[in-house]
Amino acid sequence: MPLTLYVDGDRWRAHQRSVVASFPGIVPVCKGNGYGFGNARLAAEAQLLGADLIAVGMYEEVPAAAEVFDGEILVLVPWRPFAEVTEKYPVIHTVSRLADLEAIAKVTGPKPRVVVELLTSMRRHGIPAAELGLIGPLLDRVESVGWALHLPLTAAGAHGAEVERWIGRLRGSGLPLERLFVSHLTSGDLAALSAKHPELTIRPRVGTALWLKKDQLYRAKAHVLDVHRVRRGSIVVVAGGTANGIALEAPSQVADLRTRAKVLAASSLEAAGRALSPYTIAGRRRWFAEPPHQQVSMILVPSKVKPPNVGDELDVNVGMTLTTFDRIVTS
Ligand SMILES: *Cc1c(COP(=O)(O)O)cnc(C)c1O
Repeated sequence: MPLTLYVDGDRWRAHQRSVVASFPGIVPVCKGNGYGFGNARLAAEAQLLGADLIAVGMYEEVPAAAEVFDGEILVLVPWRPFAEVTEKYPVIHTVSRLADLEAIAKVTGPKPRVVVELLTSMRRHGIPAAELGLIGPLLDRVESVGWALHLPLTAAGAHGAEVERWIGRLRGSGLPLERLFVSHLTSGDLAALSAKHPELTIRPRVGTALWLKKDQLYRAKAHVLDVHRVRRGSIVVVAGGTANGIALEAPSQVADLRTRAKVLAASSLEAAGRALSPYTIAGRRRWFAEPPHQQVSMILVPSKVKPPNVGDELDVNVGMTLTTFDRIVTS
């Protein structure tokens, strides 16, 4: 009796296909909690989409993806000497430091396939522009698959310019440049860059835009497991708890804040000292009666509201990247 994600399969896949069409060369990103769907599921969807390459977040995520995906797998987290790499699943590594470019072949065997990540204005991982001149000789040790740029999520338009700067720097340093992996490039910037540099293969790495869309393509629902009458109303025991990522903190989206403010205004006495739950009962988000447990939560419904029945399914407002569903039902 689970926390369930109901997916409108036809519309979800139509959305995926439209994103694939606007991001030629797309590398689907299947990582973390699988954007709510789970990584194995996403890797299987990527297979259906005909992707030749997917990206996973870390080495530990490779086996589950390789079970269902036949193409190549790129690991996004940069390789480090302490990375646990299994030979069983050949991958494309990301390398983001000169020292690692020097060391990786000693650990993985000769000529590992690598993408060299450059340090963008996002400043997460990457070799800085000032060290470009030192990369050339180290590339002999690996099979270089291309360069990677992880761009910051900022105002549209800034990205194209940053990619252009890097193209100029790489060429200026005399480094080979055939393939560029980019993250967070808009489809417009991608089209403009591809038109301007037809000799370059640009591979956009896309997760959120590919898998998620707030358009009723999927809905979270939770079974009512029990209802108990109490002096102030009813305690409703529902599926979903901390194991699923149901937390005291409600997702802080604008619409939710407004809902929260409304509920607070309407029932400030009732709600004193309580936290708003993500569960909707009789059209309104209700308060937790107590902090969520591992797999169930206890919700307080005031006396004036008719409580739901055991077996009903409630709408749950949860963030897809925060939630692990017990069950996914695709129509
Ligand atoms: C997670 C990640 C992505 C995908 O990001 P989305 O915002 O989900 O599209 C792309 N590139 C890198 C390096 C990442 O870590």
